[in-house]
Amino acid sequence: MSKPTIVLLPGDGIGPEVTTAALRVLDAAGFDAEWVSVPAGATALEQGYDNVLPSVTTDAIKQHKIALKGPVTTPVGKGFKSVNVQLRQKLGLYAAVRPVRSLNGVKTRYENVDMVIVRENTEGLYTGIENEIVPGVVTSLKVATRDACMRISRYAFAYAQTRHRKKVTVFHKANIMKLTDGLFLDCARQVYEEEHPDCTYEEVIIDAGCMKLVQDPTKLDVLLMENLYGDLVSDLCAGLVGGLGVVPGSNIGKDYAVFEAVHGSAPDIAGKQIANPLAVIMSSVMMLNHIGQETIAEKIKDAYNVVLAEQKPETLTRDLGGSATTDGFADAVIRRLR
Ligand code: NAD
Repeated sequence: MSKPTIVLLPGDGIGPEVTTAALRVLDAAGFDAEWVSVPAGATALEQGYDNVLPSVTTDAIKQHKIALKGPVTTPVGKGFKSVNVQLRQKLGLYAAVRPVRSLNGVKTRYENVDMVIVRENTEGLYTGIENEIVPGVVTSLKVATRDACMRISRYAFAYAQTRHRKKVTVFHKANIMKLTDGLFLDCARQVYEEEHPDCTYEEVIIDAGCMKLVQDPTKLDVLLMENLYGDLVSDLCAGLVGGLGVVPGSNIGKDYAVFEAVHGSAPDIAGKQIANPLAVIMSSVMMLNHIGQETIAEKIKDAYNVVLAEQKPETLTRDLGGSATTDGFADAVIRRLR
């Protein structure tokens, strides 16, 4: 097999620390790739680009198809449009896929959590269409299109089927947003009825859905929802299994795929070597499976599972109750590679 070329976006804040740690693990596991590093976020501006998502970055992903991305900082309330939103829209990365699983050795209030969030990634309130009607009155436009709602619904049901999952649950607020969430629900129901009648299908109003998640997350399986709900529910679900340091993700489109953790750039801990690189390592495992490198993926997964199960404070990062550095955790995973 020829050597794959992967685009690397180290990102901002803890991004460079956690992606460096992940690359060391990939390398030690025998993943032989050409890495093309490109900037995004505040880092791009620091390097002299006039945009947080320069064309050199999108062009590289268009050329090589696959990217591993660190988190980027998005200023609150002003400035450039979010890098993530731009990236997902420009590259048509319409499905965010975020597996949320209990990990042996990571103690939380819940056991046996095993869910996958499938989030629509390109529209909803993230189109960024905002207007000042008159001073003191502003609006944000929520957009839903039949094409995008059908596309994400088909993705979620197909994912459930190929992964032998039992149920797809749609979280919505169609009781209030009758047109936008109503359309989302119509599309999900149509895909279920016409294309996947054997799957179990459920519609839950999102407020009740959040309660169900914290009461007993083991009752949920594949969760399908529009953009904003998926963003919020992802962090909530991360909290059920040990926090943002342990939840990976991917952004999948027809032509390209970008793998990244759910967490952000964590400015509060950036540069301190205390961030947990596991979520990015897990995202790398998703990437390896996506490009057909299942053996190396399994090897890395087995290694971090052993490190977690051992529950040694000296090999776990602070968020998991340990004292290891970002690199220290990566070293522990590397030592356990078989
Ligand atoms: P965050 O996810 O960066 O951090 C939330 C909390 O979780 C913080 O206390 C942080 O220290 C902790 N945390 C996050 N990742 C961790 C890790 N790997 N190990 C240990 N602890 C970790 O969310 P935020 O503070 O709301 O956002 C910071 C910035 O990140 C913002 O600019 C936001 O827009 C951006 N962001 C980017 C992405 C992305 O690039 N995909 C995603 C979410 C947020």
